[in-house]
Amino acid sequence: MKTKFIFVTGGVLSSLGKGLASAAIGALLESRGLSVTFQKLDPYINVDPGTMNPFQHGEVFVTDDGAETDLDLGHYERFANVRLGKKNNFTTGKIYYSVIMKERRGDYLGGTIQVIPHITDEIKKSILLMENSADVAIIEIGGTIGDIESLPFQEAIRQFKWDVGKENVLYVHLTLVPYIKTAGEVKTKPTQHSVKELRSIGIQPDIILCRTEKLLSKDIKKKIALFCNVDVDQVITAKDVESIYEVPLVFHQEHLDDKIVKLLHMWTRAPRLEAWEELVEKIKNPKFSVRIAIVGKYIDLKESYKSLNEALVHGGIANDCQVALDFVDSEALESADCNDTLRNADGVLIPGGFGARGIEGKMKAVHFAREEKVPFFGICLGMQMAVVEFAKHVAGMKGANSTEFDKNTDSAVIYLMKEWYDYQKKTIQQRDVSSDKGGTMRLGAYPCLLREDSFAYKAYNKKEISERHRHRYEFNNRFKSALEEKGLIISGTSPDGELVEIVEIADHPWFLGCQFHPEFKSRPMDPHPLFCAFINAALKYKGNKKKKDE
Ligand code: GLN
Repeated sequence: MKTKFIFVTGGVLSSLGKGLASAAIGALLESRGLSVTFQKLDPYINVDPGTMNPFQHGEVFVTDDGAETDLDLGHYERFANVRLGKKNNFTTGKIYYSVIMKERRGDYLGGTIQVIPHITDEIKKSILLMENSADVAIIEIGGTIGDIESLPFQEAIRQFKWDVGKENVLYVHLTLVPYIKTAGEVKTKPTQHSVKELRSIGIQPDIILCRTEKLLSKDIKKKIALFCNVDVDQVITAKDVESIYEVPLVFHQEHLDDKIVKLLHMWTRAPRLEAWEELVEKIKNPKFSVRIAIVGKYIDLKESYKSLNEALVHGGIANDCQVALDFVDSEALESADCNDTLRNADGVLIPGGFGARGIEGKMKAVHFAREEKVPFFGICLGMQMAVVEFAKHVAGMKGANSTEFDKNTDSAVIYLMKEWYDYQKKTIQQRDVSSDKGGTMRLGAYPCLLREDSFAYKAYNKKEISERHRHRYEFNNRFKSALEEKGLIISGTSPDGELVEIVEIADHPWFLGCQFHPEFKSRPMDPHPLFCAFINAALKYKGNKKKKDE
């Protein structure tokens, strides 16, 4: 079957959930037996979001092939059965970069290089990379219709329809239909304007997805249909929901999947949505609950840890358990008493991070969790902090630190490796240890072997795993035996034993730090083993605490 293309654009304002809507469309099409893939086209000029402030842009999502991508790729991977990579995320910067490289190489034979056709052709070429990789490719255009910077993308997707045939292309436009309290009614004007804008550049949307608080009445749908030049059944309510995993179901209630396959001239089986229904049922009616304290830089929390927050929810689903998150500012913890701040937590988690701010607070949190035997999960920087804390307080290395925070420490238990094998590039990488940024990061999937009698092995129940990375600093093997002698367990390493990937301590209900980011691979239907095990430990901890109190 020839690949069909669905383009998803957004109007009125940003943050309407275009990424989630695209992901949910993918889930629905999969439920009808179709294969799907995704692409995100971002209008900003950064070549990738790797260098962007997560506070502004949200999480940087990392793929198996080591691409630093937009967080929407995380939604796609969680909702559909896909693993994405470099070719699934393009930015204006990446498009221009490749056009300019070609121009320098002389590929354009003396021509004048222009936005149309050179930039638009390059965009179309990138979209065509999705051809033959699935039955349906869902292409989300970042930004809002009307933005100057997304115009080349809009022009490219307009032309695309004529290149591949109009029966193979569908335009979905997401807008907002706000409820205005003082008027006591919903307003369609912003939607009308946004569709008008879209039509002025030559794109007639096929489906209008209206984000609203309540289901839209037939009359309102008729009005939108009339002004926006579509059939009334092409106007779909995208109602606000309690859990993001309900989105595929509410879209289905509105017959969105039916409409899409009809408009694309596809024949499929009826959708099988039982798994989604069960999932939502489980999320809404959990038997148990736990509180997890996430200790990080305050401003970075929430949005910039999208995958982490979701992975914790998934770990909860696996344990029939609701997971409440307490975001604890690590800087504030420096002058606070952990006994007050962390006492109510059933588990402590330190996520990944960069920079020295709040480091002492994180250290205090590790110390508290280790001594008080509260389940502890350290991810990337969190694992590094666990190693430093252990070195300082158990192994007596008073000055122990990561060289990220103290270049002159006498016990550099976490440091920059001068040389390491880059599993993505299949070459040895040299690092400039004197520079702060230290050259490239270790990015993407790396294999890891687990030690059998460990928390990690119990969780994964297999010997070899593969997880995604995004960091520069590593465990320093020079201190390996000294730390092991004192009880640090190295339960996961690279197959050659050179890179330490997981550390644990034994005399503890659950204490694990991993150098990789397990959250990127967790899915609601396939929760990540480490998150399942961590939530399970938190649940047991809570149970024991209750028994003690009684
Ligand atoms: N800052 C640490 C490093 O670069 C940890 C990075 C992370 O947590 N992602 O190694």
